[in-house]
Parts: sequence; structure tokens; C-alpha cells
Amino acid sequence: MHFDISNIRTTLLSDDLFTRKQVTLELLRLDEIHPVVSGNKLFKLHYFLEEAVASGHKTILTFGGAWSNHLLATAFACKSAGLKSVGIVRGEEPAALSLTLQQCILYGMQLKFVSREIYAIKDDLLFIQSLKTEYGDCIIVPEGGHHASGAKGAGLIMDLVKDKGYTHICTAVGTATTLAGLLLAAKTTQVVIGVSVLKGMADIEERILSLTGGTANMHQLQLFHDHHFGGYAKQTAALIDFMNQCWKAFQLPLDIVYTSKMLYAVFDAIKSDHFPGNSRILCLHTGGLQGNRSLPVDTLLY
Ligand SMILES: *Cc1c(COP(=O)(O)O)cnc(C)c1O
Repeated sequence: MHFDISNIRTTLLSDDLFTRKQVTLELLRLDEIHPVVSGNKLFKLHYFLEEAVASGHKTILTFGGAWSNHLLATAFACKSAGLKSVGIVRGEEPAALSLTLQQCILYGMQLKFVSREIYAIKDDLLFIQSLKTEYGDCIIVPEGGHHASGAKGAGLIMDLVKDKGYTHICTAVGTATTLAGLLLAAKTTQVVIGVSVLKGMADIEERILSLTGGTANMHQLQLFHDHHFGGYAKQTAALIDFMNQCWKAFQLPLDIVYTSKMLYAVFDAIKSDHFPGNSRILCLHTGGLQGNRSLPVDTLLY
């Protein structure tokens, strides 16, 4: 690993609700690995970086939008590993770059903007071939690290969890790569819960099958589909309010795209007695806090 994971802690949330329902809720603080780089992204990149270094490739190329946690994590991880990075960005180059893209450039990432039409066919072989001609023989990481290597890397997160007594492991789902990795690495007695942050994401099981080569135990999986708050990166006043409440009550910073929706869903599930008594719930705080900079100032208390 090219980043420090020695100090990762879990934080226990104390609330009347949990006492009444006889459950405990802890967060694995991957957000504390780095101030702007999402923890789960670094894990998903682990085996790609290892391959790039071992095979003598000098460049990693990947894809993302203007506020992409994945692009930023790739830029950071490549810099740390002494590799070059190229980011293919969705949409024409804007007059003013997002803070995320500015930070990518600071980490040495070369950016190429492509239209939404081109971005939609970014996985086509001909397009990939043209990128390899332009940037040399690089390692290509699919958007969001959505690949079996990404899932295997995400599975390393479970190595950080020394306490094997959790009954439920919860994470937000974007590409489902992290979720697939957790399923691969969790104990067979643990329930793994994925909270979709996209509206109507109907192919999560299918994704997990392909990401794990069919080796994941699907009986351990539970999916929550009703907490997308309107869709990817969409938000409501209730969600913002929840984030500010979590800050006031627990000094817990959440991000607007992933971890706030995940935790909101878990709170709702506790309220509706989804979890049996004595459940010990571990939620991954996957980070993503840098994305909050896309919000108007004063939206959040932190
Ligand atoms: C990307 C991301 C996720 C989702 O991970 P997937 O592996 O794409 O499902 C969750 N949380 C944060 C903060 C992220 O940046």
C-alpha cells in the first residue's frame, strides 16, 4: 500500500435509538486515511498499481466526471507510486475547472476532456486503442475501478477490521465494486448490506457475479434501494439536515453523494426493526468528503 493505514479506527455512535433497538453501530473511518482522497478508491486501485509497477508500465489511464473521487484517488495514488496518470473527463472542458480536477492536476494527472457522446462509448475497443496510441501502452482502469481487480482490492478493507464479531457490514454502492470485494472477504456468517445511491440500479447482483467470477456468496447480500434521494449526486433538504444532525450529534462528517445516503438508510432500517436485537453493525465511511465542496457554502455546518 502506498498510503498509511496503520491508524484506521472505528467510531461508535451513541444514540438512544440504538439502545432502544439493542444494536450497536460503528463506522470504519476510511475517510481519515487522507483529507481529500476516498479511502475505498485507494483499495480498489491497489492491484492495478501493483500490476503497473511490476510490469514496468509507467502510466495509468482512467475515466471520471468533474467531481470524481475516483479520478482524484488515481492521481494521488499514481503520484505516490511514481507513476504517471491520465484522466479522461466526461464533458467539454469548462472555463473554470472543478476543485477536484484542479487537485488532480496538482497531483500530476494529465486531463483529456471528451464529449458526453464519446464518454458513453469509452469502453469500446477502438476508443481504448486510440487512447493507447495517444498515451502509450498504459494500464487502463475502468471508471470507478469497476473490475475484478478493483473488487479484490476492496476486499483488503476487511483486513483492517480486527474485530470479527460484526454481524452486518454496510457500504454505499456506486459501481458495486466495493460491495463485491466485501462479499469476497467477509466471514460467511456476516450479512453484507449495499445501499444504492443510484435510482433504480437493477443490476447489482449481476455486477457482483461478474466482478467476483460467481464466487461470492449471494445469500449474505442485502440491498437497500430506497435511499437514492432522487438519483446519483441528487439531494434533498432532509438529506442535508441529516448530515448536519450527524455532525452535531457525533461530530461525524458525511459526504453528500455516498456516505450520507448509506447512513440514512441504515438509521431507517434500525428504526423499522430490520436488524435483530444484538446486531453489531459496521458501516464503512468510504470518504468522499472532498465532493462536498461542490455544494454552496453554508449548506453544511462543517
Ligand atoms: C466511489 C465511492 C463509493 C462507491 O464505491 P463503488 O465501489 O463504486 O460501489 C462509496 N463511497 C465513496 C465515498 C466513494 O467515493
